[in-house]
Amino acid sequence: MRLAVIHIGQETNDFNPVPTTMRDYESFGLFEGEAVFEQFRGVGQVGGYLAAVDEAGRQIRSVPIIRGWATAGGRITTEARLFFEDKIRAGLQAAGKIDGLALQLHGACAAEDMDDVEGAQIELCRSILGPGVPIVVSLDHHANITRKMVGLSTAIVAHRTQPHDPFDTGKIGAELLIRIVAGEVKPVMAWRKLRLISHQEQFLTSKGPMKVWFDRARAMEAADPRVLHVGNCPMQPWLDVAEGGWASIVVVDGDRALAEKLADEIAGLAWSMRAEFQKKDAVPIDVAVRMADEAPSGVVCLSDTGDTVFGGAAGDSNLILESILRLGIKSTGLIPMIEPVTVARLIEAGVRATVTLPIGGHAATAFFRPLEVTGTVRRIGDGRVRLEEHRAPGIDMGRTVVFEVGPVTMLISELRGVAGNVPAVYRAFGVEPIEYKMAVLKTASNFQYFAPISSPVIRVDTRGPGQSDVAGLPWKRIPRPIYPLEEVGSWRG
Ligand SMILES: [Zn+2]
Repeated sequence: MRLAVIHIGQETNDFNPVPTTMRDYESFGLFEGEAVFEQFRGVGQVGGYLAAVDEAGRQIRSVPIIRGWATAGGRITTEARLFFEDKIRAGLQAAGKIDGLALQLHGACAAEDMDDVEGAQIELCRSILGPGVPIVVSLDHHANITRKMVGLSTAIVAHRTQPHDPFDTGKIGAELLIRIVAGEVKPVMAWRKLRLISHQEQFLTSKGPMKVWFDRARAMEAADPRVLHVGNCPMQPWLDVAEGGWASIVVVDGDRALAEKLADEIAGLAWSMRAEFQKKDAVPIDVAVRMADEAPSGVVCLSDTGDTVFGGAAGDSNLILESILRLGIKSTGLIPMIEPVTVARLIEAGVRATVTLPIGGHAATAFFRPLEVTGTVRRIGDGRVRLEEHRAPGIDMGRTVVFEVGPVTMLISELRGVAGNVPAVYRAFGVEPIEYKMAVLKTASNFQYFAPISSPVIRVDTRGPGQSDVAGLPWKRIPRPIYPLEEVGSWRG
């Protein structure tokens, strides 16, 4: 059989006004043709696809088309949307006759001019391949599942854990595609949309209500071999689109009635725990900073929930920095920031210069105001780093400055990259995280990179485009009523 592979990913945060451009994709590398397999063997969804092909023990010819990925951020530009549509069109047309498509997407990508970018990408693939060629779509489970996605794909699978395991998702998607093309299974999909959103504080699948919900999905798969996949999709809470909301998808071999029954059950289970998903663990900023300062040892991680770069926030919050300076904290800390204008000013001043300038709050102006600080430029870099922990080829942080402000060492970059969420990114600029008492992480869930060198994470209740106060976000397009913004009588709305 001949299978084509496409991997395109970006997660959109509608409350970050900075658009995601082609440069953001390029900062993680854009790969086409065989280079996709060369770069990602063993890594991510593409790596999972290749593992499934290797293990299938069948004659499979693979046609890799493109791999493009950007860190979560603001809506993608129309230029970026059209770029990928052109690549899909040209790639599938050049591929000739294929028997199936592994379509690896995020599922929560919106463009300046379009809510449902991935629905349109699936539609494009379907229009080129025709109705008979299986398309298995594998998604980040923080996707927003839409009518178009379900209606035009053959099957959808989604991440089974948070933190994510993209390799696993790519593998189960490819395994399913191979079985479909081989004629072993004939999938039917049932899905349910819930009038439900939640902040991200209960998103880890290892504990709490998310564990209950995901464990039930796995149990459904284990109980009956006809159940091919149960995908729970708690949409990330920053996507303000007309079809927004959580969903469940059930893929069953042949038996529609079973798929519908299980879809009702798994959606109902999430709905029954809707209040538990809203539980907040985050503590006020000053409390969190004092806890970190007084902790017996470091590195204490402070999760800046509102400014989660991995959740698409702009990365320009100065709220925790402000607290550390105002409280006169003496413990050392690490804080990353993404702010091209500040990088330019500090580079102009030069290494060892002492500079007074306003920092932070230049992008997400609805949430932050610039804070005037005085600090010293310690190092200037070009921002290219290679991160083994991130299991990806080298990334480009753009020009990057290490800037010392009182007890705080700031890593200020032009591009989003991985913000300061991976220790190696600091080491690349000559900063050893182990020597610090606290580190601000621009993520609300992905603590795994710092885990080997840190003590438990303190979740800080910061405002920002990723804030836990979802009711306080300026929603415009999401369907209403939706829980918890309103009381809703039934998950069917
Ligand atoms: Zn996700």
